[in-house]
Amino acid sequence: MPLKTPEAYLESIKREINLYMFGEKISRFWDHPYYKIIEPSINTIKKIYELAQRDEYKHIMTAKSHLTGEVVNRFTHIHQSIDDLLLKVEMQRLLGQKTACCFQRCVGFDAANALYSVTFEMDKRYESSYHDRFKDYWIEVQKNDLFIAGSMTDSKGDRSKRPIDQTDPDAYLHIVDENDKGIFVSGAKVHQTGFLNSHQAIVMPTLALKKGEEKYAVSFGVETATKGITMIYGRQTSDTRKLEDGIYDVGNFKYGGQEIFVIFDNVFVPKKNIFMKGEIEFTGALVNRFAGYHRQSYACKTGVGDVLIGAAALAAQYNGVEMASHIRDKLVEMIHLNETLWSCAVACSTKGFMREAGNYEMDMLLANVNKQNVTRFPYEIGRLAEDLAGGIICTMPSQQDLESSEIGPLVQKYLATCDEVPVNDRYKLLRFIENLSMGVASLSYKTESLHGAGSPQAQRIMISRQANIDGKIELVKDILDIPS
Ligand code: SF4
Ligand code: FE
Repeated sequence: MPLKTPEAYLESIKREINLYMFGEKISRFWDHPYYKIIEPSINTIKKIYELAQRDEYKHIMTAKSHLTGEVVNRFTHIHQSIDDLLLKVEMQRLLGQKTACCFQRCVGFDAANALYSVTFEMDKRYESSYHDRFKDYWIEVQKNDLFIAGSMTDSKGDRSKRPIDQTDPDAYLHIVDENDKGIFVSGAKVHQTGFLNSHQAIVMPTLALKKGEEKYAVSFGVETATKGITMIYGRQTSDTRKLEDGIYDVGNFKYGGQEIFVIFDNVFVPKKNIFMKGEIEFTGALVNRFAGYHRQSYACKTGVGDVLIGAAALAAQYNGVEMASHIRDKLVEMIHLNETLWSCAVACSTKGFMREAGNYEMDMLLANVNKQNVTRFPYEIGRLAEDLAGGIICTMPSQQDLESSEIGPLVQKYLATCDEVPVNDRYKLLRFIENLSMGVASLSYKTESLHGAGSPQAQRIMISRQANIDGKIELVKDILDIPS
């Protein structure tokens, strides 16, 4: 059965790469002191591989491949039913609950599901063979249980200009050369979730392209360690706390996300890995379907929300105020917001449909409404968590002070609350809430909720396109006997 163990996964990504962190070039990242910064994001991926091995999670974490007939990790599955769409969001909520961060593997998963139907439709129009090529590529992904990153966002240069009008043509990734074996591409892909931790990436265009922009209409699979690819590690709030001796001040000291700035300099892509090359007419479909799947994927934040609600409730218990009515009401408000997010994730899955290629896709309007809610509600849930935790989350002394033989006893004395609550547990909890509401994890819970899978305006455009306002006007006219 092609399911990797967490240990095998870790070994498989120990390959020499071209990585920069804090201005330093690092190729063997697992041997470097900065590995302490990277490690939580790798632990998160290991958790995915671990849960897929466990019987109690198999129905969520794995699926039967329609390509090979084998049981595969759900992150490599092409949705075959409404149930698959629902199990996808169940899995994302579960993983959010288990890690309280971004687990990185959704982007390539969503790219694959979008490419599956788009390549089918391209072949129908052009009599090309992209669909079979993509299936061959994806069978290898399933057999080897590979972590595939998804690369869409270009650096974009001057936002008022089209790709061909940019002063620097590399502002959008494009084909720079080709021969009978494949193509060469240059450009950059930014906000690359989990890129360093992934085996390969699926690259896609970032927007719908027009005539004359064919060299930007390119999609392909590429090994992340390929010659010509440079990764620069994304800086995140309080990241260097991970280099300190104590672990409490990190907050979520086990798990984390990862964002990479990726530069492609004349990178060779063999023909067998090319899934789009110049077909501008299909770039809009690819971008929108990927975005739709990824806006469904933001079910992940409901799992993180569950953990944050639990943390706020525990903080109230530690303060001895868990029975106060205003505390309970704030927890209810957090739950209401979180379950509203969940309702939309479930709804866009339940209302999914089958594409001509035979795979299933979420409802586009509801997926966009889901993501639009996600751009807002985590901020309010986070605000309420901070309210319940108290101002201490941003004024507490460090772990070194907590454990100092000199000042530590006094820090312990004045951080104490109820008799039965160990001060160290309260300290860890408060740092965890700090981490999720304003530290490194808040980038994932809040800012990524805002901008990931497209910034809020991108969803509003899709909502206005999908909502059939003319149809709603007709409803009124019909009731009021106003002629159409
Ligand atoms: Fe998956 Fe959520 Fe991370 Fe996006 S933000 S990759 S949907 S866990
Ligand atoms: Fe993301």
